Amino acid sequence: MKTYHTIIGGKLITPKNTFEVKNPATDELIGHAPISTKTEVEQAVNAAKEAQPGWAALEDDVRKKYIMKVADVLSNNSEALARWITKEQGKPLAGPGSMFEMEACVGWTQVPASLDLPVEVVFEDDARRDELHRKPIGVVAAIAPWNWPLMIAIWQIIPAIRVGNTVVLKPSEYTTIGTLEMVRLINEVLPVGVLNTVSGPGEIGAELVANKNVGKVMFTGSNSTGEKIIEATACNMTRLTLELGGNDAAIVMEDVNVKAIAEGLFWGSFLNMGQTCACAKRLYVHEDKYEEVVNVLSDLAQKMPMGNGLDEGVVLGPIQNKMQYDKVVDLVEDAKANNARIVCGGNAKEGKGFFYPITIIADVKDGTRIVDEEQFGPVLPIIKYSNIEDAIKSANRLEAGLGASVWSSNIDEAKKVAARVEAGTVWINQHGAVHPMVPFGGIKGSGYGVEFGVDGLKSVTQPQVISINKA
Ligand code: NAD
Repeated sequence: MKTYHTIIGGKLITPKNTFEVKNPATDELIGHAPISTKTEVEQAVNAAKEAQPGWAALEDDVRKKYIMKVADVLSNNSEALARWITKEQGKPLAGPGSMFEMEACVGWTQVPASLDLPVEVVFEDDARRDELHRKPIGVVAAIAPWNWPLMIAIWQIIPAIRVGNTVVLKPSEYTTIGTLEMVRLINEVLPVGVLNTVSGPGEIGAELVANKNVGKVMFTGSNSTGEKIIEATACNMTRLTLELGGNDAAIVMEDVNVKAIAEGLFWGSFLNMGQTCACAKRLYVHEDKYEEVVNVLSDLAQKMPMGNGLDEGVVLGPIQNKMQYDKVVDLVEDAKANNARIVCGGNAKEGKGFFYPITIIADVKDGTRIVDEEQFGPVLPIIKYSNIEDAIKSANRLEAGLGASVWSSNIDEAKKVAARVEAGTVWINQHGAVHPMVPFGGIKGSGYGVEFGVDGLKSVTQPQVISINKA
């Protein structure tokens, strides 16, 4: 079985130690992934540091051309990389699965290549002119999770290199090979040292973020790891973007046409088996539409083919790993013990792979663990409300503040509700609809900083004022 490589300063590194990577749908061994050493982490940061001034000195247009070449590489290899995503992460090739993830990788590469951060004249009179310039920070450490492994790595890498930083990326230990393969291909068109990788468990990430030559950490992952990164980097003045966990509320108002919103609600909740930071994870439905919503979602759940994502027609795969699977089982069992109504699903599937059915839970209340904890899986608790004020209060009662949505036939009314919901993004009649031009990030316990669009580019720069005395 093949062993895969990290890449440091343009060179493939043969690992001293490796770990086994298995397909979550079949439990088959699919390859050996490297465990980087502490020395390799340092070498990767040094390679990035050495390459950075030359990369930053290139004209903007030259860097844009390099990034468009990266987009071509991703596009030309999208099928092979999508197969890696499916074999390693589990999401199917079809539907909103791994080919969809690769399309997103291409889009999120092309868009930053089309954006600019022009010098802003922030003040000018007869006596002075003050210009705000945006400079790269230096070396960016990118720490990625396992749910959308290639897409989130691209979200971190591309804006950073677009503005003249260089990068050391550490993929999740659950989804290493596809990401390393993507970076190996990208390296064929980038100058040496611009994009490097290290790999292995959390300790390798910890080693990377604590390196004093890292100027900025782009982190997407859990709250507990986010807190450790804050502690590890505080004394180095390392800049942070923290995209942490969510527990998004969706509020369905009494005037909705349930049939018209059913598919949107379904995929807004179960995209990637619910293993998506900004999926609806708690549904608050007005009492007049409650049973209809519960039934329509449960019908859809039972129609969607689940299985090995390499098989034709499959649109839902397994849960990605045992830790996540156990968490889902535990929370559903707790809901059962608290007299919730399991409308569909609710029992683990027999056989190989971490398969768990889409599970709709009704007659459940705030305060139950399945509502209050980020379950990050294929389960949706649906809570009844009669007064919109109560739904807003419920949506805002948790520390999570990543996304939320409001569903209504009346956009003006929906906007009034949306404005009062505490989340970085509140979608109306859609959920989780991220876009490469639109800033995305959490508030409250879901982290800080934004990605995407011009604001995302700014977040991987540092401002410099050049102040001119005109007298
Ligand atoms: P995780 O925190 O366990 O791991 C994320 C990454 O951090 C991995 O690469 C891991 O090896 C690394 N890591 C672990 N310990 C570290 C340390 N001490 N220092 C540095 N790096 C360390 O998260 P996960 O389970 O991979 O991802 C799921 C979580 O990510 C969920 O909570 C989900 O909501 C969140 N998420 C958030 C967003 C967002 O945009 N806000 C997007 C996707 C996922």
